[in-house]
Amino acid sequence: MEVTIVGAGLVGCLLACFLARRGHHVTVYERRPDPRRHGREGGRSINLALSARGIDALRRLGLDGKVLDAAIPMPGRMMHASDGALTFQPYSADRTQAINSIGRADLNRRLLDAADAMPGVELRFGRRLTGLDERTGRLEFEDGKEDGARVVIGADGAYSAVRARLQQLPGVSFSQDYLDYGYKELPLPARNGEYAMDPGALHIWPRGRSMMIALPNPDRSFTCTVFWPHDTLAALDTPGKVRAYFAAHYPDAFELMPDLVPGYRDNPVGHLVTMRCAPWHVTTGAATVGLVGDAAHAIVPFYGQGANCGFEDCVALDRCLDEVGDDFPRALELFERRRADTDVIARLALENFVEMRDKVGSRLFLAGKRLEHALERALPGYVSRYELVSFSTTPYSQVERRITRQRLAAAAAGAALVAAGFAARRGRGLVRTPGGE
Ligand SMILES: Cc1cc2nc3c(=O)[nH]c(=O)nc-3n(C[C@H](O)[C@H](O)[C@H](O)COP(=O)(O)OP(=O)(O)OC[C@H]3O[C@@H](n4cnc5c(N)ncnc54)[C@H](O)[C@@H]3O)c2cc1C
Repeated sequence: MEVTIVGAGLVGCLLACFLARRGHHVTVYERRPDPRRHGREGGRSINLALSARGIDALRRLGLDGKVLDAAIPMPGRMMHASDGALTFQPYSADRTQAINSIGRADLNRRLLDAADAMPGVELRFGRRLTGLDERTGRLEFEDGKEDGARVVIGADGAYSAVRARLQQLPGVSFSQDYLDYGYKELPLPARNGEYAMDPGALHIWPRGRSMMIALPNPDRSFTCTVFWPHDTLAALDTPGKVRAYFAAHYPDAFELMPDLVPGYRDNPVGHLVTMRCAPWHVTTGAATVGLVGDAAHAIVPFYGQGANCGFEDCVALDRCLDEVGDDFPRALELFERRRADTDVIARLALENFVEMRDKVGSRLFLAGKRLEHALERALPGYVSRYELVSFSTTPYSQVERRITRQRLAAAAAGAALVAAGFAARRGRGLVRTPGGE
């Protein structure tokens, strides 16, 4: 089958590999020039955290080793208090699990190489999709060229041109919810050729309404990202104000950021949006058009799951194709069931923003995490929500059910322990009960 994918970003490239492995001929159209020959496009997050779901998808194509050798494991969070005090909180009870910091551009290049190496994949760069006829599969590009395909899959990101066409059709619903927050990336360079902070952690400066995070890069620098209300971002409009704000709120990082002011001035403000679209596919006439990755379900980045979820989409669609013998219209119909999972991670990602910017700094939160890890060690099968999301491939939609079941079981176990302790004390005559001796 001839399949066209729009977008050679992270998900488009991986999907091309999955489909080519099934024997399909895949043409991928990408609006940018080939990033392996030209530099990276600015304005996107420089690095991201790759975890179990993404790694599982890569492993199915034998790409995990190639990708992970460029990654830096982060087994926990390092919290930076306003007074500079540091607290490390491991992500997993046994401290063996880690999320992995990886450069987005590097990851994209490796996936482009992987797609390029697959027989049947053709990558066409500098081709921005500007028009699509979903009935015929006719595609129009900015350069005036046209093409046609019976199967078109939009992997063209949160501001998808493919989705923009589907949104116009009757029966297709779409919503976008922007946070009142923006993000901006800032450099924190190596110091004397070494990491200026511990590279084995995702660093967080929780500050109530806002926060900063930092992920390590292989060149021993960190990329910091501030997530601030738009009014704060706009208010810092002079070098003096930027310096004063950082000195007051992030004093330890401020000392490590010599290029803070040019970084703040030159780097764009990114938006934080949750996009929902239903259905993700339309079959009319001779053509079928579908959506995957951010084009289908862009989420805010606070669980580090957007790309991981998009990679898992590829596995899910591959399974759907297995079920229906590569009948794309039927496979894309089955793929709609994945919405149950993507809706859950969209919600968890929003909830995690409050946890990261506000709660992680509190003693109560840290005590709760220690208790959770103690329960994980004590109760076989007890796993925290973070672990289920980041270190397992348990469908997102089952994570919440499992957490509820576990909490009930832990509460029952706790009650049984209290009862046993009470009975023991009573047996030793330490407890008096009405009617007792
Ligand atoms: C600040 C931030 C931090 C993040 N951190 C993480 C993280 O830690 N972990 C994680 O898993 N995820 C993270 N994400 C989310 C992750 O970046 C996205 O989920 C992921 O990039 C989605 O991949 P995609 O291929 O669907 O879309 P994209 O990566 O956006 O790729 C879309 C591609 O389509 C191309 N394109 C767009 N329009 C057209 C057109 N009209 N014609 C042709 N081509 C087109 C684009 O040039 C691009 O190459 C983060 C996101 C942000 C903003």
